[in-house]
Amino acid sequence: MITIINMSSAPNRWTKQLKVIVDIVYGSHGPMTADEVYHAARARLPNISLGTVYRNLNKLESEGLVSEVTKGNTTAFVKHPFSNATFECEVCGRLFCVPYDLRNSEMERKVGMKVNRWSIRMTGVCKECERKCI
Ligand SMILES: [Zn+2]
Repeated sequence: MITIINMSSAPNRWTKQLKVIVDIVYGSHGPMTADEVYHAARARLPNISLGTVYRNLNKLESEGLVSEVTKGNTTAFVKHPFSNATFECEVCGRLFCVPYDLRNSEMERKVGMKVNRWSIRMTGVCKECERKCI
C-alpha cells in the first residue's frame, strides 16, 4: 500500500511516530485495534508507548485520515474510506487513498477564501506496476 505524506505545508506536524502509525494502518488489509497497532509499531519504534499510539490514532481520526470501527467488542481503526486525496495508477487503474496533510483552515489561509471541502487527485504508477516495468 502506498503512503504519501506531504511535509511541505507543515514540516513539524508529522512526527516519526505518527508516520509509522499511518504506515501501519494504511498498510493493513483490515481494521486494527490500538493494541495491534501498538505491537506493530514497536517493531519499528521499540520505545513507543501505548498512550502515544492512542494519541496519534485519535489525532488521525480527528483529521479524517482514519475511521473507528467496531471489531468484536473492541474498537478498531481503518484507513478512511473517503480520504480526500487519491492516487490513481495509470497502469493498473487501482485507486489508493493517500493521507495528505492539509486541513481546511490551512487551505483557507493559503487561498484567502472559505473552504468547505477539497480534494486532490494524483496520477502516476503504483509501486507494484513500477516494479514490473524494471
Ligand atoms: Zn499499478
